[in-house]
Amino acid sequence: MKQRARRFRNVHAILGIAAGLVVLVSLALGGLGWRLLQQEEALQQQQARDALEGKANILQTRFFSKMAETETLLRRLGSSLPAGVAESFGDGAVVVILKTGVQVQPPGQLVYLPAVPPSAPLDDFLFSEATKLEFQSRDMNAAKVALSELTRQPKVRAEALLRLARIQKKSGQINEALGSYAKLSDEKTMSPGLEAPYGLLSRLQRAELFKEFGKTADAQAEARALIGTLDAGEWAIDKDAYLYYYEAALALAGSGQNPAPAMKLAVAETVVSLWDEWRQFARSGSRSLTKQLHASGPVPVLTVVNANPDRLVAVIYPGDALRGWVPDRGSGDDATGVKVHLIASDGRPLVGAMEHPQREATPLRVMRSLSPANLPWQLDVTATNSGTILAIASERRNYLVFALVGVVLMVALACYAMARGVLREAAVGQLQTDFVSAVSHEFRSPLTTLRQLTELLAEGRIVDEGRRRQYFGVMQKETSRLHQLVEDLLDFGRMEAGRRQYRPETLDLVALVRDSVQHYASEAGANSHTIEVNSTHSLLLVHADREALQRVVRNLLENAVKYSPEAHTVWVETDREDHAAVLRVRDQGIGIPAEEKKRIFEKFVRGDAAKRAAIPGTGIGLAMVHEIVRVHHGQVDVTSEVGAGSTFKVRLPLSQTAGSTAVQEPEAVHGSAR
Ligand code: ADP
Repeated sequence: MKQRARRFRNVHAILGIAAGLVVLVSLALGGLGWRLLQQEEALQQQQARDALEGKANILQTRFFSKMAETETLLRRLGSSLPAGVAESFGDGAVVVILKTGVQVQPPGQLVYLPAVPPSAPLDDFLFSEATKLEFQSRDMNAAKVALSELTRQPKVRAEALLRLARIQKKSGQINEALGSYAKLSDEKTMSPGLEAPYGLLSRLQRAELFKEFGKTADAQAEARALIGTLDAGEWAIDKDAYLYYYEAALALAGSGQNPAPAMKLAVAETVVSLWDEWRQFARSGSRSLTKQLHASGPVPVLTVVNANPDRLVAVIYPGDALRGWVPDRGSGDDATGVKVHLIASDGRPLVGAMEHPQREATPLRVMRSLSPANLPWQLDVTATNSGTILAIASERRNYLVFALVGVVLMVALACYAMARGVLREAAVGQLQTDFVSAVSHEFRSPLTTLRQLTELLAEGRIVDEGRRRQYFGVMQKETSRLHQLVEDLLDFGRMEAGRRQYRPETLDLVALVRDSVQHYASEAGANSHTIEVNSTHSLLLVHADREALQRVVRNLLENAVKYSPEAHTVWVETDREDHAAVLRVRDQGIGIPAEEKKRIFEKFVRGDAAKRAAIPGTGIGLAMVHEIVRVHHGQVDVTSEVGAGSTFKVRLPLSQTAGSTAVQEPEAVHGSAR
């Protein structure tokens, strides 16, 4: 028992070590794979960073070459601006030439001017009569007539209309006043008295007049039209005048009117500072100037300037026009997969409309300074595919985990299968060992008896004839037990080797069972068990090997007797169920536990209770029964309850009539016990 436990412990230890080794190897493999993946991920990141650096360099170079191109284009411009010239500088670009005045392309981009040409002086003499009539004689009608006269003179027409409108307004002729103002709406000349274009003055007067007389809608419409003209840069006015008229018009225009367009204001402001610069430059006596100016305010502005003593040419890129300097989404192969932003030195995006990754933690982002172009700005280049790189890395990690889990599972499965095989082998080995010792034991007891009795008889120590006969009887019984044992083993050996020959014949199971029981009973002789034989039919023909069937009956009967140490009756019944002849051997013995029922028909398997109670046996009886029944196309099973007894039931196909086709021939079948 101890040896057996040790053997199994050893097997378990070896299997444990093997499993441990497998786990260790799996862990090592996993760790290694993980490290490799991490290294590859780092390498990929590095490669992506290098690629991004390369792209950023290209974009930076492009920025500089665009700057150089712009400067060349500017240098080539003469002292006048052909229409459409701004387009060659890119979308949204505004080109200006400062000479004696300001030229701008595209037109209408300047909402105010750095310097306004002074108005021509007014010939006061022409208006002296009308002024006298209006203010001294207070003869308004005569004054109106005088002024109407003057409106026919082109030189003073505008001034005369303005004064006429004022008198009409004063004398309550509102519609006439409005009409006079309307005639001035597009008058661009400057009023010497008010230093603003007549058109601008009259539009504001008209709007105010409408308002004064409760015509709000008309006032608003007039004010909006005025704002439209201001936005379109129609008036040659300076910054103060622009702001004054814009605010006045805004106040009259009611709600829903936008404030002054920031982009145009930025351009005008730039032109004003250019004007100052130009004047300084002209005074300095320098010969030429090329420079870049910038503003990083709410509307960032980039200005490229080229000047010589004759003129200053500049191209201005306000706000969104800066987009042209940073090819945001893939212009050419080298810029694909990146997003470019122009940012101020403090990291603020310079163009509001550009969606900028505010402080977004992206691993792939590089900056390029624009200081070589005298700009304090930077190009911010971000990889748009950094997410993809991370996704690929995590996908690979998942693959590795899956593969590892797969490998570990397969290895675990292989280990399990191996362990099962090894344990089964160990169990079979153990069974064989048990069998050998059981057989030895089976041989030893009759041999010992025989040896003792033959010694007694040989030495002539038994004189009593009755005693001698009794001893001979015992010797005969032991010899036949030995013979039976040898026969059993030989038969089992033949079955195992597949050499057992079966000679089937049609025979009566009822008679065969009865004979076998009788034979067994006479052999067992002194045994104290009663065997009750019952049959519901007088004849049950089966086609079978007589000797084999006798062995079946005998083995079952022997077991029933052997495993009923307390009970004294064993029942043997023959019966018929459908097309089968049935043999039942029932006892009220120790019974068989459920977990053993399945295995007792395997060779060498002995029940625990049988071994504990030292009931002799070799574990091959039921294996032989099973094999013989199988060869005869029958079935054997057992119902049993521990402590209540067992019933073994054998079913064999009935032989209908001799030569019947229904008979399944076990003829000359070779079989083995397993
Ligand atoms: P053996 O009887 O030589 O041990 P068998 O193959 O005949 O071998 O039986 C296998 C096992 O089945 C026995 O060891 C015993 O545990 C159990 N067994 C067989 N017949 C009976 C029975 N009638 N009652 C209880 N247990 C039985």
